[in-house]
Amino acid sequence: MSLYHSTRSRAHACSAKQAIRTGLAPDGGLFVSDALGTQKVDVDTLADKDYAAIAREVLGLLLPDYTADEIAACVDEAYTGTFASPEVTPVVDIAPVGGEGAPHAHVLELYHGPTSAFKDVALQMLPRLMARAQAGAGAGERIMIVTATSGDTGKAALAGFADAPGCGITVFYPEGKVSRVQELQMTTQAGANVAVAAVRGNFDDAQSAVKRIFADRALADRLASAGVVLSSANSINVGRLVPQVVYYFASYAQLLRAGAIAAGDAVEFCVPTGNFGDVLAGYYAKMLGLPVERLIVASDKNNVLFDFLTTGVYDRNRPFFTTTSPSMDILISSNLERMLYYVSDGDCELIAGLMADLAETGRFEVPPALLAKIRETFACGWADEDEVAGAIAACWRDNAYLIDPHTACGYHVMEQLPAAPGAAARVLLSTASPYKFPRAVLQALGAEVPADDFACMRALEEATGTTAPAQLAALEAAAVRFADVVDVPGMGAYVESAAQRLEEAAR
Ligand SMILES: *Cc1c(COP(=O)(O)O)cnc(C)c1O
Repeated sequence: MSLYHSTRSRAHACSAKQAIRTGLAPDGGLFVSDALGTQKVDVDTLADKDYAAIAREVLGLLLPDYTADEIAACVDEAYTGTFASPEVTPVVDIAPVGGEGAPHAHVLELYHGPTSAFKDVALQMLPRLMARAQAGAGAGERIMIVTATSGDTGKAALAGFADAPGCGITVFYPEGKVSRVQELQMTTQAGANVAVAAVRGNFDDAQSAVKRIFADRALADRLASAGVVLSSANSINVGRLVPQVVYYFASYAQLLRAGAIAAGDAVEFCVPTGNFGDVLAGYYAKMLGLPVERLIVASDKNNVLFDFLTTGVYDRNRPFFTTTSPSMDILISSNLERMLYYVSDGDCELIAGLMADLAETGRFEVPPALLAKIRETFACGWADEDEVAGAIAACWRDNAYLIDPHTACGYHVMEQLPAAPGAAARVLLSTASPYKFPRAVLQALGAEVPADDFACMRALEEATGTTAPAQLAALEAAAVRFADVVDVPGMGAYVESAAQRLEEAAR
């Protein structure tokens, strides 16, 4: 079944399984399907469905070459017993945000998975989807996932791929540039098929080196003769995007059950954004029939998306800021390409041209008519560091409810931007537990900030009467398994030795 093709050309079509195996289209574009939206999710029966039932329906529509049994097994493995909430992604009420007459406001908590960040929702699913995609491909072949991380992705990917059949995973993080909690989350990871190393360099050095490893033909040949192919778990993979569509429907179902909205009511979502993956999933949900009034793209001080959505010019030639919301410190929002594809009604030629401009000059500009069409669905805003701290404090003051610095960017933008007139409710997506960033949160509340991250956790518990997720608090006493530090030129060899161990373990 051929269904997916590149955003930049229709020349090569492939199945969803092939798209998930490959990650990126051969021409550098992102995999998209023109069937998206031709079939809708049944919104009328949503209130009767739990997370798993909604997930089976959404994934079934978006990944048609997986059998219903395969999808059901993936959903079951990914979400049974792995998330600390029976709702998987629970919705909580907060006071209305956005001035006089603002509608009900709610927070969609996406962080109850094993690593306390929203990436778990997708990275608990991707390995299961990959294993089924792999089953029909090269017999006995194994996949080695290679990822460079600035913090959150690495741990969520490790947790998802640890002991996944037919897979191994190698994660690189910049030495000294992640928080102590983040580093311990990675270096204490269990699993026979995992490898973790610090890199002497910054995140960009590590990321660029991983790209070179993927492009290294000689390395690929050596690995192939050992039965190993390299793949990536980054957020442009269809298998990471699709699971995120589910929680938009699941939040709507919860609001219906709570009586907060009536069937058919339109809802506005505010989404803290970096790579544009999370908010794009909301756009997919809209195309699949969810009554989405508007999607608000919330950025931190790296506000390249705000400028794009305001002027139509995307320009990455700008200073890079390191903020308290590191997972949104991104200047190239890769998944934007998919939104441009759908809003332009699948104009591959236009997309290929824009992306060529971006590669050559770091900049592109969309035609005014296209910008107007984008703005019918997407609003935008951003928060600087003081505003993030202010939002954490304001949300605590008004609701006795703690949010992390990423979520706080969205909260601030909701404070600034009045709700769309047609929205019956506003939903803020919360992307990380405040306890992943205890130092920044404690500081925002105006409390004394101890030097040690775990002392910050305990101080935050005392100051707020809330409790840190057990898996974060337990890190302080967990045994470190990986103390490897490599230079950038040594990363390829590190991957190769990890692949060798994978191959030996399989014999
Ligand atoms: C990755 C991440 C984001 C940004 O998500 P995108 O899909 O890249 O837009 C926001 N918050 C947290 C905590 C994250 O880990």
